[in-house]
Amino acid sequence: MAMASFARRKASLLLSKNLCNSSDALRYSLSLTSFSRGFSSGSDENDVVVIGGGPGGYVAAIKAAQLGLKTTCIEKRGTLGGTCLNVGCIPSKALLHSSHMYHEAKHSFASHGVKFPSVEVDLPAMMAQKDKAVTNLTRGIEGLFKKNKVNYVKGYGKFISSSEVSVDSLEGGNTVVKGKNIIIATGSDVKSLPGITIDEKRIVSSTGALALSEIPKKLVVIGAGYIGLEMGSVWGRLGSEVTVVEFASEIVPTMDGEVRKQFQRTLEKQKMKFLLKTKVVSVDSSGDGVRLTLEPAAGGEQSTLEADVVLVSAGRTPFTAGLGLDKIGVETDKVGRILVNERFTTNVPGVYAIGDVIPGPMLAHKAEEDGVACVEFIAGKEGHVDYNLVPGVVYTHPEVASVGKTEEQVKALGVDYRVGKFPFLANSRAKAIDDAEGVVKILAEKETDRILGVHIMAPNAGELIHEAVLALHYGASSEDIARTCHAHPTMSEAVKEAAMATYDKPIHI
Ligand SMILES: Cc1cc2nc3c(=O)[nH]c(=O)nc-3n(C[C@H](O)[C@H](O)[C@H](O)COP(=O)(O)OP(=O)(O)OC[C@H]3O[C@@H](n4cnc5c(N)ncnc54)[C@H](O)[C@@H]3O)c2cc1C
Repeated sequence: MAMASFARRKASLLLSKNLCNSSDALRYSLSLTSFSRGFSSGSDENDVVVIGGGPGGYVAAIKAAQLGLKTTCIEKRGTLGGTCLNVGCIPSKALLHSSHMYHEAKHSFASHGVKFPSVEVDLPAMMAQKDKAVTNLTRGIEGLFKKNKVNYVKGYGKFISSSEVSVDSLEGGNTVVKGKNIIIATGSDVKSLPGITIDEKRIVSSTGALALSEIPKKLVVIGAGYIGLEMGSVWGRLGSEVTVVEFASEIVPTMDGEVRKQFQRTLEKQKMKFLLKTKVVSVDSSGDGVRLTLEPAAGGEQSTLEADVVLVSAGRTPFTAGLGLDKIGVETDKVGRILVNERFTTNVPGVYAIGDVIPGPMLAHKAEEDGVACVEFIAGKEGHVDYNLVPGVVYTHPEVASVGKTEEQVKALGVDYRVGKFPFLANSRAKAIDDAEGVVKILAEKETDRILGVHIMAPNAGELIHEAVLALHYGASSEDIARTCHAHPTMSEAVKEAAMATYDKPIHI
């Protein structure tokens, strides 16, 4: 405890010096005591109206109701859970798991002494299991709405004033929902590229890639972000030849450089091919297959690439179509994101925005945090989200998870730092289960030992990272983690050993 508080004291000094991104610091360190609610003058019918039932919107609605606010949530999709539950996080993780099981059964079970005469993919059954998970979870949120007395309106909402939303009901007809506070949580949508038309059959977005009826022989993924790599992994494991075309010189640009290189090598070992610094000039699906014309990003000789299916995974764009933002004068930035202050308030009093539709990482857990904090502000309480500590996970196998600064960011800040690493090849649990590809990398400030960033590549990195998230939240030192007793034999011991390697020496390597 003494060590933790020591690190925290030092940390708070450093924070003001140079470690915190200034806009984030401004956003989250503002004194919240002066907040007064910006109620608009409409009907008092609802305290809070949420437009959009994704992880940002449904969480905001439930939290608002829990805080005693009369709440309505409007959702146009017909099911709750937004992109995440319907066409994002959940179906992708279902397919990642099923395809991993197939791959393991085919390639690894025999070495563990488990033999089958043959292993086959039953794609319709795999899709049905994914759909069942989605249905159960989306219905579960409807149950949570009932439990918390959130009023649920199914339909397309658009502003008629800053306190009134007109809803074209999915069942026909129109209704007006009034609220003292309106939260825009309309999320994001697939982004295509100029000249490429997504038909969700042969040229698909992530939504189409989650529902292919056949395993493509050749799949080309445009964009080496986490969604492209996850979906590429799914179909690669099921037998597709996967080529990823990326304009930038590296995959997943937000990742720590060293971990990224190791990650790319691992994916290449899994037979995923990468064409980096490459531009897609055109995509032609008029023939039997799809033909892509490519060009070096810096310009030069063109080449062609054949595919059965092309996945366009070039990012997502904020979704505000048909919402009537112009009618009430809500400000957006150049790429259409709604601008909010540190309390999630737009320039229009009583109108708030959260999640993918505002600046910040487009992640479900970030949207949820936004939702809770926004509603706490509305209720006159204090809300808080630390954007510097939103973990990021790529759910391939192995997974890659990170929190805090990358080594490149630490260098750019000019901070003296130490690095501690520990490979899973030296972790007994990873060796016992023969799944030892990966590493833990910890960056700590040299003078104080305060942890600045943690990067993990491991089979279950998405779970392991939360020890690090908590450590960063509490301003822990690497010695704090190193002196914390970790159960044996666990993958988590690699985090402890990497922490030992950061402030002193590891034992097992
Ligand atoms: C393939 C894929 C995989 C992903 N995997 C992960 C992951 O593993 N982890 C992670 O953290 N994130 C993941 N994401 C991102 C995650 O899904 C989003 O960050 C998250 O859903 C954003 O939540 P949101 O509530 O802001 O918006 P959304 O989830 O997009 O929800 C917005 C909702 O608003 C509704 N809506 C829009 N306009 C209106 C209107 N006018 N009236 C009524 N309703 C409206 C929409 O129908 C939608 O349901 C993934 C995304 C994709 C596409």
